[in-house]
Amino acid sequence: MIHYICSYLKLILYFDHAATTPIHPEVMELVKLYSETHFGNASSLHSYGAKARLAVDQAFHAMAGILNCDAHQIVSTSGGTESNNLVLRGISEKNGFQGHIITSSVEHHSVLHCCERLEELGMRVTYLPVNRDGLIDPNSVQKAITDETLLVSIMMANNEIGTLQPISEISQITKERGVLFHTDAVQAGGSLDCDVERLGVDFLSLSGHKFYGPKGVGLLYMRSARQISPQIIGGAHQSGLRGGTLNTPGIVGMAKALSLAQEHRETENARLIGLRDQLIQDIQKHISGAFLCGHPTQRLPNNAHFCFEKIDGESLLMRLNNRGIAVSSGSACTAGQTDISHVVAALGLPEQIAQGAIRISLGKNNTDTEVSELLVALREEIEAMRGL
Ligand SMILES: *Cc1c(COP(=O)(O)O)cnc(C)c1O
Repeated sequence: MIHYICSYLKLILYFDHAATTPIHPEVMELVKLYSETHFGNASSLHSYGAKARLAVDQAFHAMAGILNCDAHQIVSTSGGTESNNLVLRGISEKNGFQGHIITSSVEHHSVLHCCERLEELGMRVTYLPVNRDGLIDPNSVQKAITDETLLVSIMMANNEIGTLQPISEISQITKERGVLFHTDAVQAGGSLDCDVERLGVDFLSLSGHKFYGPKGVGLLYMRSARQISPQIIGGAHQSGLRGGTLNTPGIVGMAKALSLAQEHRETENARLIGLRDQLIQDIQKHISGAFLCGHPTQRLPNNAHFCFEKIDGESLLMRLNNRGIAVSSGSACTAGQTDISHVVAALGLPEQIAQGAIRISLGKNNTDTEVSELLVALREEIEAMRGL
């Protein structure tokens, strides 16, 4: 990946916001303030500690307001990966690694690989398939539930193809059957309504860096912590649910980023959907052999994912990178491997189409001029590659 590093400095157009986002300047100010000036340990009894404790409490309350829960139902973690591990491993351990988990075949690796590990430890896991649009059928959840089922874990929005899952429909089923429901909402935090009551979920994961917040901080909402064994053992921080000194700058920054994103959600979504749909239309009109992956309308406002016939996605990514344009060929976690992503594979596309996957994820600084530039570059590079 030396290529990446050499060309990095001349990158001008960034279309990989599903991988991570730049920190918002107002968030950065707070991170700096709570790292440099109010740097106290929130557990300390003196004024430095009190200052940090107050800021953390206010941040938890702000996030609880957005999630429509109590502040004590939120545990702060190091990110989406840890939040997903905490709920999946926490419930499994609490039940002596005996029981059943239902998830989908298109989850993020922090859910899938965690479930594979839990299978080794004794759990039984069902991986539900998706249809061509990447959607899970709520009836398949209903059918998969058994007396042993402890937890259903289905993501709110897919990080590769952007498909939004029918979370409220699934939660009606899990409620009726008395099964706990977790959703990995990491891709949804910046653009969708994450009201846990409206969604009807028992657990929800978020990550700061996916919505212009700091990296290395996330949260897990827990309706009740009774079913969870802590996974990081230390001091009595966070009611013993997650040891470790509170990441005050991260938590304060994440709360600010979430507030900003949710405040501007509707206007920004309308803008992104406009850009996204224009891009999708233009690609379908001007580039042959382009297959839109994910649901045509039930998708993240900022996500356009295509498979280009007779194109190697990674080579196209590198060609665009050489022109100063950053996109993704799959999830950031699988980039560098040559095989087809598990999400695209789950859609059942023929291999010669599936290997030409490119994810374009827009963000708050992208303009229509930039999107037009991307289209030109895509057309030229794809034509050149097919001409070879
Ligand atoms: C990025 C992402 C994660 C992992 O979050 P980190 O904070 O980077 O650990 C988990 N799930 C989804 C859907 C993601 O997009």
